[in-house]
Amino acid sequence: MSNGDSIFEISLMARVTWDLHSLNNEGTVGNVTEPRTVVLASGQKSDGVSGEMLKHIHSYNIWLLEADKSHFCPACACLHPQRADEPKYRKTLSGKDNIEVMSKAIKNCSLCDLHGFLMQEPPINRRSTIEFGWVVGIPEHFHREIHLHARHSQTERQTKEQRAEAEQEEQREVSAQMPYHRPTRSGIYALVSLFQPWRIGLNEINYEYVLGADDRKARYCLALEAYKAGFMRADGAMTSTRLAHVEAIEGIIAVSECNFPVPVLSPLRDSYKSEVEALAKKQGGIKVLTFASLAQLMQIWDDLKVKAILDFKK
Ligand SMILES: [Zn+2]
Repeated sequence: MSNGDSIFEISLMARVTWDLHSLNNEGTVGNVTEPRTVVLASGQKSDGVSGEMLKHIHSYNIWLLEADKSHFCPACACLHPQRADEPKYRKTLSGKDNIEVMSKAIKNCSLCDLHGFLMQEPPINRRSTIEFGWVVGIPEHFHREIHLHARHSQTERQTKEQRAEAEQEEQREVSAQMPYHRPTRSGIYALVSLFQPWRIGLNEINYEYVLGADDRKARYCLALEAYKAGFMRADGAMTSTRLAHVEAIEGIIAVSECNFPVPVLSPLRDSYKSEVEALAKKQGGIKVLTFASLAQLMQIWDDLKVKAILDFKK
């Protein structure tokens, strides 16, 4: 089944050290923004960044890195979240059955193919070939603070006389100076992702590939480039004032070289790398690649680009 130089699935398990960020938040009530909080199996509460955030960043990078935007459907060409379900475009996909509609949607758009979509009519859905879990703070290794900031108004930096005059003229209807509270977090975070290249171009209604090998390979390379772009810096919320300090990244990539699912173990466990290595050795057909820096991770993604991608028939 394995020829040692082909890719079926890829999993990424990593610990990233991000300082002084606020990449994902619960929301804002009044003038207080609450950070994302998740609860682990142990009952411990931790800091988190949602998989939705990482998936959105990955899809954005696919859009950014694809020079020819005609490779996208109209909605994806302008990053509209409806994807293939955009009403005008959906009408152009009509076919004699759901199989044909799905085939057209996959063929027409690399983002719909790679990241999936949900269509209302006909009611069909495509599952993403790229998945992300929560990025979660390792207990005892993350910190959170709420900082007080203030928006200052030039108009309120007036002399006493000017203020008195303005008040008399009833010009100061609403105070433009406003205090607000925002979270800042630092920590070592566990991150997991799964990529299933064998499903690129695969219509999973009739299990037929609708793309040739070259087109599937091009989309595979585009997805790997988007992974690279997503890790070059930490992206997410509040980066205009809390651009994350990326201090370190280390982890392991497992590559399935035959039609067997690749393992995904949580880097919340200190032993995750040795456990993945042991699993791969026992199973066979799974290669593991460790990295201790961003440069090493980038090199692994580049090395994977030259591999052939398998389909489920092999
Ligand atoms: Zn699309």
